[in-house]
Amino acid sequence: TSVTLVKHVPSGAPTLGDFKVESTNVPTKASLQDDQILVRTLYLSVDPYMRGRLTGAQDSYVEGFVPGKPLIGLGVGVIEASTSANYKEGDVVTGDQFKWESKFVSSTKGFTKIPASSGISPANYLGVLGMPSFTAYVGVVSLCKAKAGETILISAASGAVGQVAVQLAKARGLYVVGAAGSDDKVEFVKSLGADAAFNYKTCGDLSAAIKKAAPNGVDIYFDNVGGEFLDAALANMSNFGRIAGCGMISQYNATADSVYHIQNLIRIIPKRISIFGYIVSDYYAKPDYANFITEVSTMLKEGKITYKLDEVVGLENGPQGLLDLFEGKNFGKRVIKVSDA
Ligand code: NDP
Repeated sequence: TSVTLVKHVPSGAPTLGDFKVESTNVPTKASLQDDQILVRTLYLSVDPYMRGRLTGAQDSYVEGFVPGKPLIGLGVGVIEASTSANYKEGDVVTGDQFKWESKFVSSTKGFTKIPASSGISPANYLGVLGMPSFTAYVGVVSLCKAKAGETILISAASGAVGQVAVQLAKARGLYVVGAAGSDDKVEFVKSLGADAAFNYKTCGDLSAAIKKAAPNGVDIYFDNVGGEFLDAALANMSNFGRIAGCGMISQYNATADSVYHIQNLIRIIPKRISIFGYIVSDYYAKPDYANFITEVSTMLKEGKITYKLDEVVGLENGPQGLLDLFEGKNFGKRVIKVSDA
């Protein structure tokens, strides 16, 4: 099975019709050229940033998808055959060059081996030990330099990034406020240790809800959603507040007519607020990555971090699995299970 994009989707909400799911010939060992691997896909990651790749824009930090070719993203898989000296049959690999195919041939660029018998399930390399979790670390630790006693507000707090941001902040002694889009998600965020959490869809006035949950003001806002929530957060920031500009998912499907215009940006001046926009891929080469792996692996070993995965089974369900993210239908880190380990 293979999933391709039919045509570019510049603005508005993508639909299932924008994707094509078809049966394709399964590649074999015989089709390998020098220094290539044949990978059987175990899990694919669906991530909000993929919306940008559907537009066809080639001037962003990651190239756009090409209509008629399989989507590409993060994944975990097993090597079935290899002509590379660095990989052998049975190795489990992860990386960002996973084609949305049940089996595919690739060069080795963009793949790394997962340590054998790490005791950690493969899908967790897309979650708590993967890109979303590191994204949380960069925002909370590297950029906003979270300190004990401060108040942090986290939107999309039950999601792939948010749930780790909550726990990293809590581990550092912050007062943690989470917001999420359903009562179940709010309960989950509280179970992670958040001091306060609320349902932003049912809370009424957003700015008042933030004020109630964070009466002393917000020192750090970890922004996953942008738009109206960012506006309300700006209204509640304390002096010298910091904002992790992680994501603005509420705006990814916006059109010229529906894009949200922020009213409270001017507050960054009197309040001396810093906004750190960032892309996590810039941080893998920095010491932050090793520090993140050490901290989170230790927390995992000691049972001090929880991570909720949300599995959708079947590559053919990949497009819906992706579209769900923009409607909050995922609960935790959404992955697509393609085959059994
Ligand atoms: P999540 O697992 O949090 O899934 C997305 C969630 O966003 C949904 O479940 C929903 O949660 C919320 N959401 C969707 N639409 C809206 C909307 N219109 N308004 C408010 N909330 C909405 O995704 P990730 O954790 O993977 O990603 C979170 C953010 O982090 C995204 O913006 C993403 O682009 C960004 N990101 C940035 C990276 C970087 O390098 N800067 C790297 C990775 C992610 P709910 O039900 O609570 O509304």
